[in-house]
Amino acid sequence: MSITGQLLIGGAGVRGQNGEFRAIDAQSGEPFGIAFGGATREDLDAACALADDAFDRYRETTLEARAVFLETIGHNIMALGDQLISRCMAETGLPRARIEGERARTVGQLALFASVVRSGDFLDARIDPALPGRTPLPRVDLRMRNIAIGPVAVFGASNFPLAFSVAGGDTAAAFAAGCPVIVKAHSAHPGTSELVGLAIAQAVRECGLPQGVFSLLFDSGRSIGQALVADRRVKAVGFTGSRAGGMALLKIAHNRPEPVPVYAEMSSINPVILLAGALAERADAIAQQFVTSLTLGAGQFCTNPGLVLAVDGDALRAFERAAAAALASVPAATMLTPGIHAAYRAGVERLRGHVDVELLAEGAAGGRYDAPGALFATSADAFAAQPALREEMFGPASLVVRCADTGALLRLIKSLEGQLTTAVHLNDADHDALRALLPTLENKAGRILVNGFGTGVEVGHAMIHGGPFPATSDTRTTSVGSRAIERFLRPVSYQDLPSTLLPAALRSDNPLGVAQRIDGRVVRGGAAV
Ligand code: NAP
Repeated sequence: MSITGQLLIGGAGVRGQNGEFRAIDAQSGEPFGIAFGGATREDLDAACALADDAFDRYRETTLEARAVFLETIGHNIMALGDQLISRCMAETGLPRARIEGERARTVGQLALFASVVRSGDFLDARIDPALPGRTPLPRVDLRMRNIAIGPVAVFGASNFPLAFSVAGGDTAAAFAAGCPVIVKAHSAHPGTSELVGLAIAQAVRECGLPQGVFSLLFDSGRSIGQALVADRRVKAVGFTGSRAGGMALLKIAHNRPEPVPVYAEMSSINPVILLAGALAERADAIAQQFVTSLTLGAGQFCTNPGLVLAVDGDALRAFERAAAAALASVPAATMLTPGIHAAYRAGVERLRGHVDVELLAEGAAGGRYDAPGALFATSADAFAAQPALREEMFGPASLVVRCADTGALLRLIKSLEGQLTTAVHLNDADHDALRALLPTLENKAGRILVNGFGTGVEVGHAMIHGGPFPATSDTRTTSVGSRAIERFLRPVSYQDLPSTLLPAALRSDNPLGVAQRIDGRVVRGGAAV
């Protein structure tokens, strides 16, 4: 498949006439390949009109048709073969094994959502049958199901060019819910975006769906992305990226005449808490695992362990020495974009020059856009007094905060902003300490994990990749796993509808065979479950 630099407006290739930009080779920082044309307001309007037009037909496609669509996208992505892998490597600097793994994850996500759609559980069908004889008043017949919310705008992340991008989790969840999707391609991987966009457009055609189900826009600046969020036909936004970007789009969405939800995954420093028993028993081993997690993918994970918290003492200092030694031997890796590299270097320099911060170790220098790891330490008092020390450094850098005692540790945790993850390292002697911390950790993070690190996010039914602000803009949801579909659904009640007019999921003969909550009890296949 050739990369053309064209937009995909409802599947049709259109040359954007609003400026242009080229992909940047992550290793050299040089532009390469064909130029991508930026969408005009007219292109945006055409994509939104097509999505709006497609919505009612697409949301009422059968569950099977929608599941097959998701699977066909996965099949078409695999059929792109090595062209996709090599283009993605050039644009992101990520190694082949990582991109191949991410492709498998992307296709796996699409398959997971196909199974979610087939099960029909997301419809949450509920039936409160009429009780005409109830006294003092009869009860009406009331039925409820979830429907799709409307066309969704998706802004993918730079650091997951496949799994959180054009056909990533947000897109898969929105398609599964029955929503048309308009993607604003990330400027860091436009060729990858076009290839995946073509795979989706082909699936739309192969499955005989309305063409407006999918559009892909390139933006030569930021105005088209912002206008997309402001468009009255867009009913929800999925975003993964920086805090500044997420907040800018959130403000636009909330200031519309008709405000709409923005599900933004933004900023998290993912505290790692080292409890006394674990530190005394295995400081060295934890330090090795910590450095592996910290430097994975040049530290460019939203779950990167950017903060280490522990009570100060010999065991913590042993951890620091072991982590410093391990970090010094990790080769620097290329960052996703020169801009992200520059932001990382600035963050490291800010801490290096900070009067209250000690540099414990730095990794070996590498190529021009490579990021050497960095490990710093500070006191709990300095951390508490200076908000700048809590800012995310996107890359392989972390800050150890030495606390005077467990009381100081707890106060510090309570003072933190919301997080995607928090990891606790413990042994059997630490169970009481964790029991005391758990209520606070639950209030701070979307995922609490023990004796591990947050990098590596399982795509399943019980995963929460979310958390209180600023980890996300809506703490009630997740962007990874099957629950992600809930962001793009809306409940509707039907009162006293004639049975011939009821949606199939709500009919008493249950032709879809989906689970129905009848008078409060879930019934599947005629039996209560
Ligand atoms: P980003 O700069 O926020 O970009 C994300 C997307 O939003 C891009 O398409 C970007 O457009 C667009 N965008 C950003 N600001 C905008 C604005 N004011 N108006 C309109 N569009 C805007 O983030 P990134 O480059 O992908 O990633 C780097 C940062 O994201 C890191 O700081 C990292 O912490 C965070 N991150 C968080 C998570 C998470 O799950 N919490 C995951 C990955 C990354 P362009 O294409 O023009 O840049």
